[in-house]
Amino acid sequence: MSRATRATIHLAALRENLKRVREVAPRSKVMAVVKADGYGHGLERVARELSAADAFGVASIADGQRIRATGLSNRVVVLSGIDEPSDIAQMRRLDLESVLHHESQLAWLEEDSAPAGAKPLRTWLKVDTGMHRLGFAPDRVAGVQARLRALPGVDPRSVLMTHFANSDVFDDPISMLQIDRFEGVARAFTGERSLANSAGVLGFPQAHADWVRVGGLLYGISVVAGRSGSAFGFHPAMTLGTRLIAINRVARGERIGYGGTWQCPEDMDVGVAAIGYGDGYPRHAPPGTPVLLRGREAPVVGRVSMDLVTLDLRAHPDARVGDEVLLWGPALPVERVAEAAGTIGYELVCGMTRRVDFVEDHAPLH
Ligand SMILES: *Cc1c(COP(=O)(O)O)cnc(C)c1O
Repeated sequence: MSRATRATIHLAALRENLKRVREVAPRSKVMAVVKADGYGHGLERVARELSAADAFGVASIADGQRIRATGLSNRVVVLSGIDEPSDIAQMRRLDLESVLHHESQLAWLEEDSAPAGAKPLRTWLKVDTGMHRLGFAPDRVAGVQARLRALPGVDPRSVLMTHFANSDVFDDPISMLQIDRFEGVARAFTGERSLANSAGVLGFPQAHADWVRVGGLLYGISVVAGRSGSAFGFHPAMTLGTRLIAINRVARGERIGYGGTWQCPEDMDVGVAAIGYGDGYPRHAPPGTPVLLRGREAPVVGRVSMDLVTLDLRAHPDARVGDEVLLWGPALPVERVAEAAGTIGYELVCGMTRRVDFVEDHAPLH
């Protein structure tokens, strides 16, 4: 039999989550962020299901090319923009739009000569309001916009955008400061505006503006501490599952797995499931990390190894070899697993490796 490890992608959840974003931000257009292979769910399948989005956000021209190859004609924005001068021609050819965040990119655009009759390149002008990762300083925006407008090959209607550093903490004043700084710049800017990522959509309705840029929520995942996507009406789009391949009786005092880091407090059954860090299950998931067996928790014990994970079956006298094991999904939010493992749900769903079997669930949501 083939290895049982399987990521099931719930296509209806993707579509419903887009509708839910529109309910939460009814006056905004939606950029569906599909970088990192659609947050690990599969770029082409995600883009197909989210074809009602007003635009897609990607991290690379190659991803934009993959979207175009599916035949989709939605707007596509490359979120870090031009990496070298030759990118400009490629973006034109593929009808991609570029974020513009740095003087070097502006200089490349100024040196570029658009072929006659070329469609003007659309740009998203990024201002750094406090995250200090990408973006022009606020006092440079007016000058940059003026220079862009002088370029015949560039569409004069840029979208002004910024990115929140900590919008998942709803009461952190840094987001308010970022909104204030953004508004200060936007007053002198003609064009559309975009501030909010997923957490910004949930926590800062005053920042929905013309475009929201949503990734996590489309996959049903929240980064708000202690609250999973379902708490906000979103549906997890991935179930990660496998099977139990062994059940072993282990005596009190014996140690489980590499390093012998976990000791049996009593005679007990230990289950072995066919998944490990070689599949993308986090090696740093500590003992106690929740796993579901027959709808009840069977926590991790011992270290996660490459192909296998060991489970505490003390609450599962009925467990059988071959039983389905659920690592995360609608019944066990990936956010809970992530919290136990000291990360965020995004990292876990992005981390599935090539040996994981991806299957599509076409059923309607229930
Ligand atoms: C990744 C990304 C987003 C989406 O963030 P989520 O938290 O997944 O909604 C939005 N904007 C930019 C610039 C991004 O890089």
